[in-house]
Amino acid sequence: MTDIIQLLPDHVANQIAAGEVVQRPASVVKELLENAIDAEADEIKLIIKDAGKTLVQVIDNGKGMSVTDARLSFERHATSKIKSAEDLFQLNTKGFRGEALASIAAIAHVELKTKRPSDELGTAIEIEGSTVKSQEVAVTPTGTSVAVKNLFFNIPARRNFLKSDTVELRHITDEFHRVALAHPNIAFAFYHNGSELFNLPKENYRQRVVHIFGSKTNEKLVPVEEETEVLKISGFVGKPEYSKKTRMEQFFFVNQRFIKSPYLNHAISAAFEGLLKDGYHASYFLNLTVDPKTIDINIHPTKTEIKFDDEHTLYAILRSSVKHSLGQFNIAPVLDFEHQDQFNTPYSYKDKVGKTPTIEVDRSFNPFADDTVSSGSSSKSTSFKTSFKPTPSTHWESLYVGLESKGNSGKADSVEVNFEKEVKTETIFSDASVETSKTTFQLQQKYIVSTLKSGMLVIDQNRAHQRVLYESFLKHITIKQATSQQLLFPLQLSFTPNEINIISELQEDLEHTGFVFSDVKKETITITGVPVGVPESEVSIILEQLISDVENDVPDANFSAADLLAKSMAKSLAIKNGQVLNNTEQEHLVNSLFACKEPNVSPSNRPTFITMSTDDIEKKFM
Ligand code: ADP
Ligand code: MG
Repeated sequence: MTDIIQLLPDHVANQIAAGEVVQRPASVVKELLENAIDAEADEIKLIIKDAGKTLVQVIDNGKGMSVTDARLSFERHATSKIKSAEDLFQLNTKGFRGEALASIAAIAHVELKTKRPSDELGTAIEIEGSTVKSQEVAVTPTGTSVAVKNLFFNIPARRNFLKSDTVELRHITDEFHRVALAHPNIAFAFYHNGSELFNLPKENYRQRVVHIFGSKTNEKLVPVEEETEVLKISGFVGKPEYSKKTRMEQFFFVNQRFIKSPYLNHAISAAFEGLLKDGYHASYFLNLTVDPKTIDINIHPTKTEIKFDDEHTLYAILRSSVKHSLGQFNIAPVLDFEHQDQFNTPYSYKDKVGKTPTIEVDRSFNPFADDTVSSGSSSKSTSFKTSFKPTPSTHWESLYVGLESKGNSGKADSVEVNFEKEVKTETIFSDASVETSKTTFQLQQKYIVSTLKSGMLVIDQNRAHQRVLYESFLKHITIKQATSQQLLFPLQLSFTPNEINIISELQEDLEHTGFVFSDVKKETITITGVPVGVPESEVSIILEQLISDVENDVPDANFSAADLLAKSMAKSLAIKNGQVLNNTEQEHLVNSLFACKEPNVSPSNRPTFITMSTDDIEKKFM
């Protein structure tokens, strides 16, 4: 038998490596921007065409490369950034693997132009699929330009796997934000298909955040500054009242590198505890500086994860610094009765002098006076009394159809149900009476129970209504006609430029549901009409939910804007759990649900109702 193991040729090895390093155009953007930063550039230009599928080019004014380095930079494991394994623990650069350029050159057409400040002339190299096509001396400005064209030209499967331009552009924009936020002292410009998307001068961190997320952001920011032996924190958190449904504005940078850390994110949430509404997330833009020796960024090839030596300490410091900032800037906690044990005293109270409580006596109060007398003399005593009176529950009563209510005074409300009188109970639950009277009732303000010939039906009111609304919105969007109601006064809403982008992508579909936009500007949207039945007060919630859904849904395959919009609006507008429905409303909901095409499941594919047959019930009694 002959030996069968061989070393892979370089271009194959590079292609395989590329699979890890380059997932989409945004990965190329990230690698090239990071190389420019490592080259100490202070002006960086990003130019893309067709969401990076045709071209990603980064031009920097950094230190450039010599002729030999230029050629070597495309070799695998060729790097100027580390020399030995020890260097891995003192990383001050973004790159260190020496893999990016080799990988990119294996799966695209690459043109490199570079010149060092001391050199008269520079170098130009063209590579296609790891093969050098040309290398020549070139007249070129100091710094480096790398143009990556026709990404995945030789891997059709990967190319086909790319999402729509909208989605790919959003990924690129995310990468750009991360790099630009980490380096406010570098000027960045970003062009897509010839139009300028961002032009960021060198500026301070607050200005950078505001430049990227819109001028309205300025008033939202609360500074966080802390310096301890193990950790330095600087940056901002968003005031709680500006919290969002999306996580788009959550940024951690560790030593100027964007990272994701659910654990540290939790520290922030903990600091905000009791200050945020359910389902809302705090914004934060925080720079953490730690000794490079105490972190390991080597654990993930795309490098957004990081390992800290002492995560617990970082967690504690982060949480208390954010809490402190929120307190110092007088962001008093909102009352939240579910978190009574979390009562925090606002910082401003610490200097307040205690006040002796005073007692007010209502001399006219007489607990024995009857209703007519007490309501005449003092309103307090009435409310005292009524609050202890059992509220008549008509829903509950309706369960016992056939029972006569005794008289009509308030006292008689406590119906005397005598379960021992078998004759009566029999008629209540006899098959005949239940089947003919189509009664529904609400259970825990969450479910609607309805009777069936063969048993009973328990409907989840929220999911059922989502299904009804979803089908109706989807119909309006696809047949492209909807009725809208004109607003008396145009409604102006502010968003970040990124959010505006998302809304304008969906503008046409939104209009088919009944929205009328009179103006979409860089940071504000003016709405003059809304779909019939949508309360004006819900509009901003609907749009926020929509933005958050689009953000969260991006990684999914077949992203259909219409479907997503219909789902999202249904979610925002559906009857919530806890909402009391009268009988007509209950019946209407049940009927509308069963008029749907797919009544069995909610838009997110969860059951809308369960049935319980008489057999099931009987079994339970055995
Ligand atoms: P890494 O960044 O991990 O070192 P890369 O493949 O991204 O690996 O780059 C290889 C080498 O090419 C870098 O170490 C650097 O010396 C050089 N290089 C790449 N891009 C630039 C640039 N924009 N300016 C100067 N040198 C660069
Ligand atoms: Mg690199």
